[in-house]
Amino acid sequence: MSEVILRAEGLKKYYPIRSGVLRRTVGHVRAVDGVSFELRAGETLGVVGESGCGKSSLGRLLMRLEEPTEGVLHFDGVNVYEQNRRDMRRIRRDIQIVFQDPYTSLNPRKTVADIIGEPFEIHPDAVPKGGRSARVRELMEMVGLSPEHVNRYPHQFSGGQRQRIGIARGIALNPKVLVCDEPVSALDVSVQAQVINVMDKLQDELGLAYVFIAHDLSVVRHISDRVAVMYLGKIVEVGTDEEIYERPTHPYTQALLSAVPVPDPSLRGSRGQIKLEGDVPSPADPPPGCNFHTRCWLAQSICSRDEPELIERPDLSGTHPSACHFVEESMMTSTRTHTE
Ligand code: SF4
Repeated sequence: MSEVILRAEGLKKYYPIRSGVLRRTVGHVRAVDGVSFELRAGETLGVVGESGCGKSSLGRLLMRLEEPTEGVLHFDGVNVYEQNRRDMRRIRRDIQIVFQDPYTSLNPRKTVADIIGEPFEIHPDAVPKGGRSARVRELMEMVGLSPEHVNRYPHQFSGGQRQRIGIARGIALNPKVLVCDEPVSALDVSVQAQVINVMDKLQDELGLAYVFIAHDLSVVRHISDRVAVMYLGKIVEVGTDEEIYERPTHPYTQALLSAVPVPDPSLRGSRGQIKLEGDVPSPADPPPGCNFHTRCWLAQSICSRDEPELIERPDLSGTHPSACHFVEESMMTSTRTHTE
């Protein structure tokens, strides 16, 4: 098994809510609320959850674009949040990001050459021997773009091509980890598959590790080795793709899975959809106990009182970490029994 290169321990990010003339802090939005995980070299960890569950804030913490309220992030054995500016520059070469929206994340006034070569302005020592422009052309080829278009502007490319430009910029410095914040959410389904194939190929060629953030379990399925499901700032279940997709043990994961379209028309009628009651509670005022209890069909009184730990259950063979008091009951229910 490959080495762990990124390890998050108890990461929290609380944003203060201020009010009044004096802007006093009257509460906190708990965007990330105690997240721990490991990422191994060359692996893809999918992070999935509804909008507002804290996954993008988590991505920003992994890049240290934000300081955490609490917690530790180890990269290659050092605590990222304890590094000074100079050491952070070195770490940032190894942890890069691809943003969600290829329409707004690329400067419309810059050419592709400028955009892909941007990281070399911050890290001139990373320009390879062949020179910056040869490297930019090489990167374009790696992501399936024609180097002949190096002097074009973002508006001259399609959405999928723009995201390839973003990926080329992300890998320019030969990082070890690429944080991908919903990289295909703004694209059509057919284009999503093409971009994911490019990312798959790059991972094989470069040995990159991905943290692949998405709101849809179907998107991460083909690229993830493991998947972490987030709800209200916490990971509620984490496992291999097979464990999550074939044997989900958390009711929330089951609900997300039931919303994934079934490609085989003969199976469509046989699989019901779990209809979650109510809205996602506010992260400024999360429910006590299990924060999913306000929407969970298995909830009992303990659920609104005691917070379940994210733990494996060795007594239930084949289970992976899941934060639920009633894993056994949850495993017995299937998505077919909770139909609208
Ligand atoms: Fe549902 Fe209770 Fe499990 Fe939370 S702990 S997911 S409320 S059964």
